[in-house]
Amino acid sequence: MTSPFRTHIRQALANPNLQTALDNNAERRINARIQNYAFLPEDVQVMRQRAHNIRTDVVANLARYLDQFIANLQQNGIIVHQAADANESVNIVLDIAKQHNAHLISKSKTMVGEEIELNPALEAHGYEVVETDLGEYIVQIRHEHPAHIITPAVHLRREDVGKTFNELLGVPYTDDVATMVAVARRTLRDIFLKTDIGISGVNFGVAENGMLCVLTNEGNGRMVTTLPLVHIALMGIERLVPSLEDLASLLYLLPRSATGQKLTVYTNLIRQPAVDSDGPRERHLILLDNGRKLMSNSPFHEMLYCIRCGACINACPVFREIGGHAYVGKSGKHTPYPGPMGSVISPALFDAQDFGHLARASSY
Ligand code: SF4
Repeated sequence: MTSPFRTHIRQALANPNLQTALDNNAERRINARIQNYAFLPEDVQVMRQRAHNIRTDVVANLARYLDQFIANLQQNGIIVHQAADANESVNIVLDIAKQHNAHLISKSKTMVGEEIELNPALEAHGYEVVETDLGEYIVQIRHEHPAHIITPAVHLRREDVGKTFNELLGVPYTDDVATMVAVARRTLRDIFLKTDIGISGVNFGVAENGMLCVLTNEGNGRMVTTLPLVHIALMGIERLVPSLEDLASLLYLLPRSATGQKLTVYTNLIRQPAVDSDGPRERHLILLDNGRKLMSNSPFHEMLYCIRCGACINACPVFREIGGHAYVGKSGKHTPYPGPMGSVISPALFDAQDFGHLARASSY
């Protein structure tokens, strides 16, 4: 019997539109990354080694940095929850939503949210959930999973998005990006104003002061973390940096590797709930383990150094042919982490029996 992985590969290879979309993305991202790495203030290898040392230190001393981070968060007035697994983290979100009698929940991009399958769980309990990152919004209205950790709609050409908006939102067909963005902006602006709870991811937590760093390019992250009365941030326990200085070192590299930008458009540093009449009265942080502590003591511990830039995915010749939706377990279950990094993280965090074969998605 053909495995679900092979079936997905064959379907992907037979889809010329997918091949075009993946090629366009890979070329754009790789070229932009090369161009912007040329403008670093120091030698690239020096800066990469510094970043590597920071991540090595964090993973080797995870318990100590976590304790420091949590103590500082609590001192800042952020309510901290520690979740051992996906179920626990989903239940924490559900409890908060129930306490606040929430109806509408808006989200900015969070890979931990994908990892714990938060949207289906919230929808099953009657909540309306709206993704506000444009790529996430597109895949949500198409009832698809994100196909890439940085570029959720990487599998679509602009013509495909125009067709989606025409068929699902009832707007006239166009493949003009500015017009499509304006359509999404109009819809989402109304959502931001009505939303009860905002949910975001966290790119880095700063141990020395309990600060949350959230990077977005579209401003939606700011709306989600400042407009609603309640903000819930989701973060994997390993996404720590010891200090603000270390954060600065990583911010030289992450946007360049992720999107080929010198700096992400909005670099948000969140420290506490609102202190005046504006902004969330409550900020929660859910710290998700879900196998990370076990991983930190395993031969796969170096994979926890990953800062989710997606550069290995863009450079991967296999991903470039099959796209993110092809990375499925033997059971047919989708993983939110595709490509080279996903081939290690998915079996390590989820089920090695189900996802172990993804390591064969390699040209080596
Ligand atoms: S493993 Fe991939 S996604 Fe993670 S930091 Fe390295 S290049 Fe970026």
